[in-house]
Amino acid sequence: MVILMIGPPGAGKGTQVERLSRRYCLDKVGTGDILRQEVVKKSELGVKVEGYMKKGQLVPDDIIIDVVAGRMEWGSGCRGYLLDGFPRTQEQAQRLDHLLQERGEKIDLVFNIEVSEPELIRRISGRRICTKCFRLYHIDYLKPQVDELCDYCGIPLIQREDDREEVVRKRLTLYREETEPLLEYYRCQSKLIDINGNSHTEEVFRQISAYIDSHLTHGSRSKKAELK
Ligand code: AMP
Repeated sequence: MVILMIGPPGAGKGTQVERLSRRYCLDKVGTGDILRQEVVKKSELGVKVEGYMKKGQLVPDDIIIDVVAGRMEWGSGCRGYLLDGFPRTQEQAQRLDHLLQERGEKIDLVFNIEVSEPELIRRISGRRICTKCFRLYHIDYLKPQVDELCDYCGIPLIQREDDREEVVRKRLTLYREETEPLLEYYRCQSKLIDINGNSHTEEVFRQISAYIDSHLTHGSRSKKAELK
Protein backbone atom coordinates (compact mmCIF):
# COMPACT_ATOMS: atom_id res chain seq x y z
CA MET A 1 0.00 0.00 0.00
CA VAL A 2 1.31 3.47 -0.88
CA ILE A 3 -0.25 6.56 0.67
CA LEU A 4 0.73 10.19 -0.03
CA MET A 5 0.24 13.04 2.39
CA ILE A 6 0.01 16.44 0.71
CA GLY A 7 -0.51 19.79 2.43
CA PRO A 8 1.17 23.13 3.04
CA PRO A 9 3.88 23.52 5.67
CA GLY A 10 2.24 23.50 9.11
CA ALA A 11 -0.78 21.46 8.01
CA GLY A 12 0.12 18.73 10.51
CA LYS A 13 1.27 16.10 8.02
CA GLY A 14 4.24 15.03 10.13
CA THR A 15 2.10 14.49 13.25
CA GLN A 16 -0.45 12.41 11.35
CA VAL A 17 2.19 10.41 9.49
CA GLU A 18 3.90 9.51 12.75
CA ARG A 19 0.69 8.02 14.20
CA LEU A 20 -0.59 6.46 10.98
CA SER A 21 2.70 4.69 10.30
CA ARG A 22 2.43 2.97 13.69
CA ARG A 23 -1.25 2.14 13.39
CA TYR A 24 -1.06 0.63 9.90
CA CYS A 25 2.54 -0.62 9.89
CA LEU A 26 3.54 1.70 7.08
CA ASP A 27 7.11 2.78 6.53
CA LYS A 28 7.20 6.57 6.67
CA VAL A 29 9.32 8.35 4.11
CA GLY A 30 9.47 12.04 5.05
CA THR A 31 11.78 13.83 2.64
CA GLY A 32 12.14 16.89 4.92
CA ASP A 33 13.23 14.67 7.85
CA ILE A 34 15.64 12.66 5.71
CA LEU A 35 17.26 15.85 4.42
CA ARG A 36 17.46 17.41 7.92
CA GLN A 37 19.28 14.32 9.18
CA GLU A 38 21.78 14.64 6.33
CA VAL A 39 22.32 18.32 7.14
CA VAL A 40 23.02 17.47 10.80
CA LYS A 41 25.45 14.73 9.73
CA LYS A 42 27.12 17.21 7.35
CA SER A 43 27.13 14.49 4.68
CA GLU A 44 27.80 15.31 1.04
CA LEU A 45 24.05 15.34 0.43
CA GLY A 46 23.47 17.48 3.53
CA VAL A 47 25.98 20.09 2.39
CA LYS A 48 24.37 20.13 -1.06
CA VAL A 49 20.81 20.73 0.19
CA GLU A 50 21.35 22.94 3.26
CA GLY A 51 21.29 26.24 1.38
CA TYR A 52 17.99 25.46 -0.39
CA MET A 53 16.38 24.38 2.86
CA LYS A 54 17.45 27.40 4.88
CA LYS A 55 16.02 29.73 2.25
CA GLY A 56 12.76 27.79 2.05
CA GLN A 57 13.46 26.77 -1.56
CA LEU A 58 12.76 23.37 -3.07
CA VAL A 59 15.70 21.03 -3.42
CA PRO A 60 16.20 20.17 -7.15
CA ASP A 61 14.03 17.31 -8.41
CA ASP A 62 16.94 15.04 -9.42
CA ILE A 63 18.40 15.11 -5.92
CA ILE A 64 15.12 14.47 -4.14
CA ILE A 65 14.11 11.64 -6.49
CA ASP A 66 17.44 9.89 -5.88
CA VAL A 67 16.83 10.23 -2.14
CA VAL A 68 13.38 8.65 -2.35
CA ALA A 69 14.44 5.93 -4.80
CA GLY A 70 17.40 5.05 -2.56
CA ARG A 71 15.18 4.96 0.50
CA MET A 72 12.63 2.69 -1.18
CA GLU A 73 15.33 0.36 -2.48
CA TRP A 74 15.88 -0.93 1.04
CA GLY A 75 12.35 -2.26 0.78
CA SER A 76 9.87 -2.00 3.57
CA GLY A 77 9.48 -4.43 6.43
CA CYS A 78 6.01 -2.95 6.76
CA ARG A 79 2.77 -3.15 4.82
CA GLY A 80 3.87 -0.33 2.51
CA TYR A 81 4.86 3.33 2.42
CA LEU A 82 3.52 6.58 3.74
CA LEU A 83 5.13 9.42 1.82
CA ASP A 84 5.29 12.78 3.58
CA GLY A 85 6.42 15.89 1.69
CA PHE A 86 6.97 14.06 -1.59
CA PRO A 87 6.07 14.58 -4.41
CA ARG A 88 6.06 18.37 -4.42
CA THR A 89 6.32 19.09 -8.16
CA GLN A 90 4.79 17.67 -11.34
CA GLU A 91 8.18 16.21 -12.31
CA GLN A 92 8.46 14.44 -8.95
CA ALA A 93 4.92 13.06 -9.28
CA GLN A 94 5.64 11.59 -12.72
CA ARG A 95 8.97 10.14 -11.64
CA LEU A 96 7.28 8.59 -8.58
CA ASP A 97 4.72 6.92 -10.86
CA HIS A 98 7.57 5.39 -12.90
CA LEU A 99 9.45 4.32 -9.82
CA LEU A 100 6.40 2.56 -8.40
CA GLN A 101 5.54 1.01 -11.76
CA GLU A 102 9.02 -0.54 -11.93
CA ARG A 103 8.45 -1.99 -8.47
CA GLY A 104 5.00 -3.32 -9.41
CA GLU A 105 3.34 -0.91 -6.96
CA LYS A 106 0.92 1.98 -7.25
CA ILE A 107 -0.42 4.87 -5.23
CA ASP A 108 -3.53 3.85 -3.28
CA LEU A 109 -4.65 7.06 -1.58
CA VAL A 110 -3.61 10.72 -1.56
CA PHE A 111 -4.67 12.86 1.40
CA ASN A 112 -4.86 16.61 0.89
CA ILE A 113 -4.77 18.31 4.29
CA GLU A 114 -6.25 21.80 3.98
CA VAL A 115 -5.61 24.51 6.57
CA SER A 116 -6.27 28.26 6.37
CA GLU A 117 -3.24 30.51 5.91
CA PRO A 118 -3.48 32.49 9.20
CA GLU A 119 -3.74 29.19 11.09
CA LEU A 120 -0.69 27.82 9.27
CA ILE A 121 1.40 30.88 10.21
CA ARG A 122 0.22 30.58 13.83
CA ARG A 123 1.12 26.91 14.01
CA ILE A 124 4.52 27.22 12.37
CA SER A 125 5.73 30.24 14.31
CA GLY A 126 5.19 28.34 17.60
CA ARG A 127 6.74 25.12 16.34
CA ARG A 128 9.89 23.77 18.00
CA ILE A 129 11.98 20.75 17.02
CA CYS A 130 14.51 18.43 18.63
CA THR A 131 17.68 18.38 16.50
CA LYS A 132 18.44 14.82 17.58
CA CYS A 133 15.20 12.85 17.13
CA PHE A 134 13.35 15.51 15.07
CA ARG A 135 10.21 15.23 17.21
CA LEU A 136 7.98 18.28 16.88
CA TYR A 137 6.56 20.39 19.72
CA HIS A 138 4.52 23.59 19.90
CA ILE A 139 4.85 26.35 22.48
CA ASP A 140 1.04 26.36 23.04
CA TYR A 141 -0.46 23.10 21.73
CA LEU A 142 2.22 20.47 22.29
CA LYS A 143 4.45 21.55 25.12
CA PRO A 144 7.36 19.41 26.30
CA GLN A 145 7.18 18.19 29.90
CA VAL A 146 10.16 20.35 30.86
CA ASP A 147 10.25 23.80 29.34
CA GLU A 148 12.10 23.93 25.99
CA LEU A 149 13.64 20.41 26.36
CA CYS A 150 12.89 17.32 24.28
CA ASP A 151 10.92 14.74 26.31
CA TYR A 152 13.00 11.90 24.84
CA CYS A 153 16.51 13.32 24.30
CA GLY A 154 16.54 15.98 27.05
CA ILE A 155 18.30 18.45 24.76
CA PRO A 156 17.12 22.03 24.06
CA LEU A 157 14.47 22.46 21.39
CA ILE A 158 15.06 24.96 18.62
CA GLN A 159 13.02 26.82 16.05
CA ARG A 160 13.83 25.59 12.53
CA GLU A 161 15.49 28.31 10.54
CA ASP A 162 12.94 27.83 7.77
CA ASP A 163 10.08 28.24 10.29
CA ARG A 164 10.80 31.97 10.63
CA GLU A 165 7.83 33.95 9.33
CA GLU A 166 9.46 35.44 6.22
CA VAL A 167 10.74 32.01 5.13
CA VAL A 168 7.38 30.40 5.89
CA ARG A 169 5.64 32.89 3.58
CA LYS A 170 8.05 31.94 0.81
CA ARG A 171 7.41 28.22 1.43
CA LEU A 172 3.66 28.80 1.29
CA THR A 173 3.96 30.63 -2.03
CA LEU A 174 6.06 27.77 -3.42
CA TYR A 175 3.45 25.31 -2.18
CA ARG A 176 0.66 27.17 -4.03
CA GLU A 177 2.72 27.43 -7.22
CA GLU A 178 4.44 24.05 -7.41
CA THR A 179 2.57 21.54 -5.27
CA GLU A 180 -1.10 22.56 -5.36
CA PRO A 181 -1.38 21.77 -9.10
CA LEU A 182 -0.63 18.15 -8.19
CA LEU A 183 -3.97 17.92 -6.43
CA GLU A 184 -5.72 18.02 -9.79
CA TYR A 185 -3.38 15.29 -11.10
CA TYR A 186 -4.48 12.95 -8.33
CA ARG A 187 -8.11 14.11 -8.32
CA CYS A 188 -8.38 13.07 -11.98
CA GLN A 189 -7.17 9.61 -10.95
CA SER A 190 -9.87 9.47 -8.20
CA LYS A 191 -7.18 9.05 -5.57
CA LEU A 192 -7.51 12.37 -3.80
CA ILE A 193 -9.28 12.80 -0.47
CA ASP A 194 -9.67 16.30 0.97
CA ILE A 195 -9.31 16.53 4.74
CA ASN A 196 -10.14 19.60 6.81
CA GLY A 197 -6.89 20.08 8.71
CA ASN A 198 -8.26 22.99 10.77
CA SER A 199 -9.90 20.44 13.05
CA HIS A 200 -8.23 19.01 16.13
CA THR A 201 -5.37 16.53 15.50
CA GLU A 202 -7.48 13.71 16.94
CA GLU A 203 -10.38 14.41 14.58
CA VAL A 204 -8.08 14.61 11.56
CA PHE A 205 -6.53 11.28 12.58
CA ARG A 206 -9.99 9.73 12.96
CA GLN A 207 -11.05 10.86 9.49
CA ILE A 208 -7.90 9.71 7.74
CA SER A 209 -7.99 6.36 9.55
CA ALA A 210 -11.61 5.83 8.51
CA TYR A 211 -10.64 6.28 4.84
CA ILE A 212 -7.71 3.91 5.15
CA ASP A 213 -9.86 1.31 6.94
CA SER A 214 -12.44 1.58 4.20
CA HIS A 215 -9.77 1.23 1.53
CA LEU A 216 -8.36 -1.85 3.23
CA THR A 217 -11.82 -3.39 3.46
CA HIS A 218 -13.28 -2.37 0.13
CA GLY A 219 -10.23 -1.43 -1.92
CA SER A 220 -11.86 1.79 -3.05
CA ARG A 221 -13.24 5.10 -1.90
CA SER A 222 -16.84 3.99 -2.36
CA LYS A 223 -17.60 4.49 1.34
CA LYS A 224 -16.74 8.19 1.21
CA ALA A 225 -20.29 9.43 1.74
CA GLU A 226 -20.82 7.07 4.66
CA LEU A 227 -17.66 8.20 6.39
CA LYS A 228 -18.45 11.91 6.34
P1 AMP B 1 9.42 19.81 5.08
O1 AMP B 1 9.93 19.42 6.42
O2 AMP B 1 8.68 18.72 4.38
O3 AMP B 1 8.66 21.11 5.10
O4 AMP B 1 10.74 20.07 4.16
C1 AMP B 1 11.71 20.99 4.55
C2 AMP B 1 12.51 21.43 3.33
O5 AMP B 1 13.16 20.30 2.71
C3 AMP B 1 11.70 22.06 2.21
O6 AMP B 1 11.44 23.43 2.41
C4 AMP B 1 12.64 21.83 1.00
O7 AMP B 1 13.75 22.72 1.03
C5 AMP B 1 13.18 20.44 1.29
N1 AMP B 1 12.30 19.39 0.72
C6 AMP B 1 11.61 18.43 1.40
N2 AMP B 1 10.92 17.65 0.57
C7 AMP B 1 11.16 18.12 -0.69
C8 AMP B 1 10.71 17.76 -1.98
N3 AMP B 1 9.86 16.73 -2.18
N4 AMP B 1 11.15 18.48 -3.04
C9 AMP B 1 12.02 19.49 -2.88
N5 AMP B 1 12.47 19.92 -1.69
C10 AMP B 1 12.05 19.24 -0.59
